[in-house]
Amino acid sequence: MGTSDCGHEISMATPSVGEAGKTGAWRSERPVLVAPEACLAVKAGRITCQLCWVYCPDACVTRSVGPAIDLTYCKGCGICAAVCPAKALEMQPEHEPGTCGR
Ligand code: SF4
Ligand code: SF4
Repeated sequence: MGTSDCGHEISMATPSVGEAGKTGAWRSERPVLVAPEACLAVKAGRITCQLCWVYCPDACVTRSVGPAIDLTYCKGCGICAAVCPAKALEMQPEHEPGTCGR
């Protein structure tokens, strides 16, 4: 499924339940916006950078000033944190060692 943005067509699907259920259910790490003030979009006060949105394979990052992440479908791959040039996103363990709760 494609979506149109600024006149360019990009390939991006809408998150939905797949064969393995909701991908967020088997995540072991989650992305956390640890330094929102460092986010280039927040600094600029407008929609810029957006690399986390572009590269998320599950389309669960918003295109916005400061990303919001849909943890129902985030599978914890860590790509968003890896591509963030400002180190504003960080992967953190889903559970504390020795616990099983969310
Ligand atoms: S960890 Fe992966 S799936 Fe989750 S928001 Fe980041 S890029 Fe998307
Ligand atoms: S990749 Fe990092 S700096 Fe760029 S919009 Fe996302 S959180 Fe902000």
